[in-house]
Amino acid sequence: MIRDNLQQVEENIKSACDRSGRSRENVKLIAVSKTKPVEMLREAYDLGCRDFGENKVQELMDKYDKLPGDIRWHMIGHLQRNKVKYIVDKVFLIHSVDSLRLAEEISKEAVKKNVTVSILVEVNVAGEETKFGTTAKEAISLVEEIAKLPNIMIKGLMTIAPYVENSEENRLYFAKLKQIYVDIIHKNIDNVFMEELSMGMTGDYEVAIEEGATYIRVGTGIFGERQYHNV
Ligand SMILES: *Cc1c(COP(=O)(O)O)cnc(C)c1O
Repeated sequence: MIRDNLQQVEENIKSACDRSGRSRENVKLIAVSKTKPVEMLREAYDLGCRDFGENKVQELMDKYDKLPGDIRWHMIGHLQRNKVKYIVDKVFLIHSVDSLRLAEEISKEAVKKNVTVSILVEVNVAGEETKFGTTAKEAISLVEEIAKLPNIMIKGLMTIAPYVENSEENRLYFAKLKQIYVDIIHKNIDNVFMEELSMGMTGDYEVAIEEGATYIRVGTGIFGERQYHNV
């Protein structure tokens, strides 16, 4: 199943790249493996996946210990400050930094462990009340503040678009994140490297690619529906 799903996702990525005149190498696929057992991650790994996304610290740590060391782990879920210390030296990229306080904690733990942590600033472009993320208005000043902290490197922006039946409805949100990204590039802020736009999930990654996504985060489209029992 995972093999067929990955093939389908790959075809869709290619078509979206073709439609928008982008090259396939500029879009990186993150296999979002939250709630899925290690065996399924291993299967995806054997099929070539090296980027995996998790949204819980404990689950990420468990899987980290059981799977090969060349995996790039992406923390994509809301991160509590008291758990930062467990993952700063394990994650490749934290996508979900939405406050200065969280960034300060990441910076502090990164200094302690003598590592530099790459992060994305999460922006709630659609302004949904139920979602985390800084507001579009505050994104630039947050980036400016975080950029001053040691051992933390801002690599770009991330957003979680609303759940919609028709992915076209999210196009404006992806375009808006891209616009904020361009605005930040034009500000030439020291220690800010705007390279990545993490946007698009199973339901809307093709539209996200057309609007400039460099990371897409696909769970269901690779591993199938998630079952949540008592979590
Ligand atoms: C779960 C999750 C995804 C993947 O969602 P699918 O719809 O299953 O592709 C992507 N991004 C974030 C932040 C998530 O929590």
